[in-house]
Amino acid sequence: MTAPNLLATQDLHDLGVHALQQALQHKQVSAVELATHLLARARTHANLGAYVDLQENVTLEQARAADNRISRGEARLLEGIPIAHKDIFVTRDFVSTAGSRMLDGYLSPFDATVVANLAQAGTVTLGKLNCDEFAMGSSNENSAIRAVGHERVVPVRNPWNTERIPGGSSGGSAAAVAARLTPAATGTDTGGSIRQPASFCGVTGIKPSYGRASRYGMVAFASSLDQAGPMARSAQDCAMLLSAMCGPDPDRDSTSLDRPAEDFTRELGGTVEGLRIGVPKEFFGEGLASDVRTVTEAALTQYEKLGAILIPISLPRTELSIPVYYIIAPAEASSNLSRFDGVKFGHRSDKYTDLADMYRKTRAEGFGDEVKRRIMIGTYVLSHGYYDAYYLQAQKIRRMIADDFQNAFRQCDVIAGPVAPSVAWKIGEKSDDPVANYLADIFTLPASLAGLPGMSLPVGFAQSEADKGMPIGMQLIGNYFEEARLLSTAHCFQQATDFHLAKPAGH
Ligand code: GLN
Repeated sequence: MTAPNLLATQDLHDLGVHALQQALQHKQVSAVELATHLLARARTHANLGAYVDLQENVTLEQARAADNRISRGEARLLEGIPIAHKDIFVTRDFVSTAGSRMLDGYLSPFDATVVANLAQAGTVTLGKLNCDEFAMGSSNENSAIRAVGHERVVPVRNPWNTERIPGGSSGGSAAAVAARLTPAATGTDTGGSIRQPASFCGVTGIKPSYGRASRYGMVAFASSLDQAGPMARSAQDCAMLLSAMCGPDPDRDSTSLDRPAEDFTRELGGTVEGLRIGVPKEFFGEGLASDVRTVTEAALTQYEKLGAILIPISLPRTELSIPVYYIIAPAEASSNLSRFDGVKFGHRSDKYTDLADMYRKTRAEGFGDEVKRRIMIGTYVLSHGYYDAYYLQAQKIRRMIADDFQNAFRQCDVIAGPVAPSVAWKIGEKSDDPVANYLADIFTLPASLAGLPGMSLPVGFAQSEADKGMPIGMQLIGNYFEEARLLSTAHCFQQATDFHLAKPAGH
């Protein structure tokens, strides 16, 4: 029996990871054809500012190798599947900038473990994607790197409305997946940087439990929070990608968990019949945009129709997650970024008088404003006399936030709520107001501080005049190591609805 020809009815770039896997293995399309098509799209959609590096020859060579394996009957799980990486992962064959002038043009001698794991599963790398400098930001406006096809540094644009931000810090990843420039991308999430841009661009993304994915080769922001995860069009696609990304890496990341790689697709056939969904009242308070409230509530009702049970719960310290995160993350960042001193790698100032002057000038030139702000905050909260007052207090409250989740999980199986208080805002709207950016992280920070897995799935669009048509995601948070359950919970919703299939006009 021949497989149904998916390509007869759809454009190549409309196919997600699962559909492409079938098409590639049934030889309805070759990896080279697919890569060529998507590289051309990356060029024609350069206005989005999503890519910061493309290396056609590298990509096509990987694609040819994939086609060879397929023709020899040696295809691996993701053989020939195109993927693009957030430019916070170091890569041997593409630049690794972390969105910073400090690393402009930097070439790494090795691939990050996540990149290597995906390549091991057969993926073909399309290029590197824009992000906020060192992953610090919520709008991708903090990148200092020129996107492919641009003479100057430009903001990444949201494909649903190019006057708006795509979210951040994995803004390039979200924009590229939404605009059908790639079926899949990697992202990283320290305080929401996979979930929030996924929500703002109408794609699906998951941050696994802390320690699931190796941090080796991920340029460090806040080491106790940083996690990698996939962004794609559906929960099913994310499950396939996450299975390839994760796994222990004890020699290179001491915080990677000693748990074998898992098949996160294993629960996809399940139902949500009887699933207890906890709905935290603190996620639906004042300040939540009415579009987000309406759409999230409708999604919860949809879950009820599918057989889930909604349970009101409380996460009483939700609000405290903002001050706690904005002490801990800068503290860790100030320490991690001390390695950029102009000595071993990265930018070094041209003119200086002595060593101290070289450090000073290098760092003054290499880091952007938001990064400097965080280094100053971090250094302050760690300094003698303030450590106890800020950092230690923040650590204590972090523990209480984690405990609140454990109390909640006694009553429910997963937690659901909004990802962000609003839809994607306009480019420039909050760029002069760091605190306004920080406050918008309120719903993603708690799971990050607790190290829990969390995801975002598209559940609707804004209807109000001001924000009409902008996508809205819903957040699902699971207990530790419950990624498979989260993904199956999202998959059930996507089997019953088609929000995840909607695409921006012109794509
Ligand atoms: N918006 C948050 C910050 O600016 C989260 C960033 C992230 O998850 N990398 O720190």
